[in-house]
Amino acid sequence: MALKITLPDASVKEYDNPVSPLQVAEDISRRLADAAVAAEVNGNLVDLNSEINDDASLVIHTFSNPVGKEIYWHSTAHLMAQAVKQLFPEVKVTIGPAIEQGFYYDFDRAEPFSDEELVLIENRMKELSSQNLPYSRKELSKQEAMEMFSNLQEDYKLELIEAIPDGDIISTYTQGDFIDLCRGPHLPDTGRIKAVKLLKTSGAYWRGDEHNKMLKRIYGISFPTNKELNEYIQMLEEAKKRDHRKLGKDLDLFSIDDEVGAGLVLWHPNGALMRHLIEQYWKDEHLKNGYKFVCSPHIGRSNLWHTSGHLGYYHENMYSPMDIEGQEYYIKPMNCPFHIAIYKTTLHSYRELPIRLAELGTVYRYERSGVLHGLMRVRGFTQDDAHIICTAEQVNDEVEKLLEFSMSVLKHFGFENFQIYLSTMPSNPVGEVKDWEMATVSLRSSLEKLNIPYEVDEGGGAFYGPKIDIKIKDALNRSWQCTTIQFDFNLPQRFNMEYIGADNHSHKPYMIHRAIFGSLERFFGTLLEYHAGNMPLWLCPIQVMVMPITDVQIDYAKDINQQFTKNGIRAEVDLRSEKIGYKIREAEMRKIPYMCIIGKKEFEDTSVTLRRHTIGDLGSMSLQEALDKMESELQ
Ligand SMILES: [Zn+2]
Ligand SMILES: [Zn+2]
Repeated sequence: MALKITLPDASVKEYDNPVSPLQVAEDISRRLADAAVAAEVNGNLVDLNSEINDDASLVIHTFSNPVGKEIYWHSTAHLMAQAVKQLFPEVKVTIGPAIEQGFYYDFDRAEPFSDEELVLIENRMKELSSQNLPYSRKELSKQEAMEMFSNLQEDYKLELIEAIPDGDIISTYTQGDFIDLCRGPHLPDTGRIKAVKLLKTSGAYWRGDEHNKMLKRIYGISFPTNKELNEYIQMLEEAKKRDHRKLGKDLDLFSIDDEVGAGLVLWHPNGALMRHLIEQYWKDEHLKNGYKFVCSPHIGRSNLWHTSGHLGYYHENMYSPMDIEGQEYYIKPMNCPFHIAIYKTTLHSYRELPIRLAELGTVYRYERSGVLHGLMRVRGFTQDDAHIICTAEQVNDEVEKLLEFSMSVLKHFGFENFQIYLSTMPSNPVGEVKDWEMATVSLRSSLEKLNIPYEVDEGGGAFYGPKIDIKIKDALNRSWQCTTIQFDFNLPQRFNMEYIGADNHSHKPYMIHRAIFGSLERFFGTLLEYHAGNMPLWLCPIQVMVMPITDVQIDYAKDINQQFTKNGIRAEVDLRSEKIGYKIREAEMRKIPYMCIIGKKEFEDTSVTLRRHTIGDLGSMSLQEALDKMESELQ
């Protein structure tokens, strides 16, 4: 009886005997068989050399898709563990998953791995790869697995096995002299790992718990070709140049001081001016779009946080309370309860809705010191927060407006590529299912009406409502979390929010939380990395630097500087007696967008010579022409 294998393009291959996914791949093409990483048989991921005994659907995964990458990188983690065990037999192995970019493995070892040791490990991995060792799977009982890893004295593996329910099948994978506990699947052999780079080391607690032992983690990445690895390394170097922490220092924008405290940002004059410009734009746009501003305090009584529920489910992210006249107060991790308190000071009629309350509200959340990262993960930050309170009939309109508004704000900062996710109802929702459905339909139909491509994160919503997340994609293909538009069926209930409807009865309003930037700090960091520090002209602290070539032109240069200032351009004049080449180089380093050079010729025919950072010389022109050029860029 023939065995039918159905491929993703719906074509069918027939076999007389059991067949492996690898054989099927070979029958399709040599190329596919060489590129294959693992297979999916009837939706289950399996090794390429596993056996298919019955009719089945088959997908062959290669490195070019996310599933293939994950298996490829995870298999490389096994290879790294093998190399480490060969070089340092006393080390105990723990776990080694794939991550978004590459993989890591955590080892129990007293001292950290040095850079020299990383090179040794990498070289050993290359040797082991060239030996083309098959990854072979073996299934065994829990008892057998316990014995095996106890003989190997791999205590961490024993702990993992103990947690597996009795009767479950346990599998190990062996390549050469190395055996690891693993569900699989893996590459068929180490030979498919052609290019490897170990990237960095760090400490990590066993199972992420700070009460456990600190392990030594090695991160790495691998590719099927050297070309891909080299491209990746180039991308990393470019990312290093764009690192917002480096740019923040080079351009004197902000700092984080150990004396002040980790995760707490100090904004320097240049950075604070840019932040002011962002806030000013934000405020103007919100007024134009029907928002009302509110301001709320930084701390609130424990009662408030009990009512909101934050002391229950959000407690771990909040700081310890402070005692004020015998009452407990908490520094706010969120602005929502205050906005709700403002809403509740009067009774609202349906005629007043929608009400859109907005605030640049600074909040404080506890983040572990290990995860703090420049402006991206901090302990104190300002949300560009707003709460839309509306009736059921207004929901569609409000969501659509929110999306349009968010996109137009983001585009103003030069962002062009977005990744948009719609997250739907999780398994433990609060609120009524019909509300969830209505809100989800509204989010979905607004995205579709506005022709915005999106992906669905099924079940990925918070317990209190569905949401849309907008991420920004940069030139290096990295994505940055930004806007959130989030329904809330929890807080209106907890705070007993209401409005009087046309029927003269009290109704519960709909509430949407939204932040366009997310946090000003993270948004600012994203802007820096996205533009590699070359910010849009309207955001630059100094827009033009006027530079006289010799002392003879000083007065004329000062006059030009004044003319720029009068016309609303942020200008400065460089009066130092440095060579013009030096002044230009320095202005370029500071990423000042325009340089206005004044020499003998410009002085004589009352012109200026303009230079644009990242473009170069723009030639000589009248002051008015220079102003027009800048004006048109500012539009
Ligand atoms: Zn594995
Ligand atoms: Zn909120």
